[in-house]
Amino acid sequence: MRVVVIGAGAIGTNIAYRLAVSGAEVVLIDGHAPGLGTSGASFSWLSSFPQLAWPEPQGRRSLRLSVNAHFDRLAEELGGDWLDWCGTLTMESAVPDFDAAVAAARAAGAQLEVMGGADLAAVAPQLRLPEGTRVAFELRSGWVDAPAMTEQLIRVFRLSGGVLRIGSEVTGICRSGARVTGVLLADGSRLEADTVVNAGGAFATHIAAMAGLALPMELVPGMMIYAGAGCADLPRQVINGAGWMIRPDRREGTAIHWRGEALTAVHGKNGNHGVAMLADVARALPALAGLTPSRQRIGIRAMPFGGPVIGALPWLAGYYCAVSHGGIGWAPIWAELATREILDGETVPELAALRPARFYYDLSEDELSAAR
Ligand SMILES: Cc1cc2nc3c(=O)[nH]c(=O)nc-3n(C[C@H](O)[C@H](O)[C@H](O)COP(=O)(O)OP(=O)(O)OC[C@H]3O[C@@H](n4cnc5c(N)ncnc54)[C@H](O)[C@@H]3O)c2cc1C
Repeated sequence: MRVVVIGAGAIGTNIAYRLAVSGAEVVLIDGHAPGLGTSGASFSWLSSFPQLAWPEPQGRRSLRLSVNAHFDRLAEELGGDWLDWCGTLTMESAVPDFDAAVAAARAAGAQLEVMGGADLAAVAPQLRLPEGTRVAFELRSGWVDAPAMTEQLIRVFRLSGGVLRIGSEVTGICRSGARVTGVLLADGSRLEADTVVNAGGAFATHIAAMAGLALPMELVPGMMIYAGAGCADLPRQVINGAGWMIRPDRREGTAIHWRGEALTAVHGKNGNHGVAMLADVARALPALAGLTPSRQRIGIRAMPFGGPVIGALPWLAGYYCAVSHGGIGWAPIWAELATREILDGETVPELAALRPARFYYDLSEDELSAAR
């Protein structure tokens, strides 16, 4: 089975890796350097709270509960230093209806300890929070160094026989009737494939269009700022604050995503003034006071309408779509499920609600299966 994966971000590299180690002949293509699209401008948080308190279909919920196990397995397979289970402290002001959200997330399987006062000071002495602040402490959560993960994935992918082609983007998808047969690259070359995977992130609509398909999604910007390299007094954990989140960053001290509002499933406001955002965060974390960001970057979240789009189309053989927000945390799961579908010909039931066909016809899964 020959597979071309378009896009070497978190999702594409995970899929290319999983397919290659499972025996497929894979070419992974990126027009630029791997891991530097949205995956290189991401907060890259792995957590269950407050996410498990949000309503979602049962299939999706059970997949979400498997995120940590997927990362443990990937870390064991790949080696390298890119995963940090440092724990998360979520302040009560960060989540609407904090007590109800804690109860709902616990009922769904999250392991949380609610703490404040001396207990909180012992865990994160660097924080200066208003008297009486409570936090939910999730020990089994953390963050991913996404560029380092993609680098390590590509290393093992290549050792497994995978081919990486960078610097020349895909400019066309070749079709023969109702089948995709390969891709054209900007350098004029053409690659034949049995399956072409669209893992183009924010550019996935362009790639879909090359195959004559629409992919409705919002592109929602989010700003990351980095500061505090060399500061000794920074917290070890991810801190989810009232309007911002911070986490450790190996190169730049801390990585900060400033939301300006509580955390919900909707990503709305985003700051764009790095100095003011850093000053706001420094009120809770004095080690950052007076600093200016060492770097700031706007990442583009690809947010398909109705959630992730994972799967093939009944009427166009050889095309597979893998586009998802939360794509750092979901990537190993999408990779495993996509591999089962592409290589083993399975129809994974947990993906039923995520198929690209939902944008085209008002058909049930049974009717769509019958059309295959
Ligand atoms: C501020 C911010 C915070 C976030 N926080 C989190 C978080 O805490 N946890 C989480 O899980 N997710 C988070 N996300 C979302 C997450 O970062 C993305 O879902 C994920 O990075 C998407 O990965 P991807 O592989 O789909 O896309 P990308 O990383 O963008 O990769 C797509 C790749 O495709 C390549 N490409 C595109 N078109 C072509 C073409 N025609 N030919 C060849 N190559 C092409 C691009 O060069 C790029 O490298 C956040 C995002 C932002 C912006």
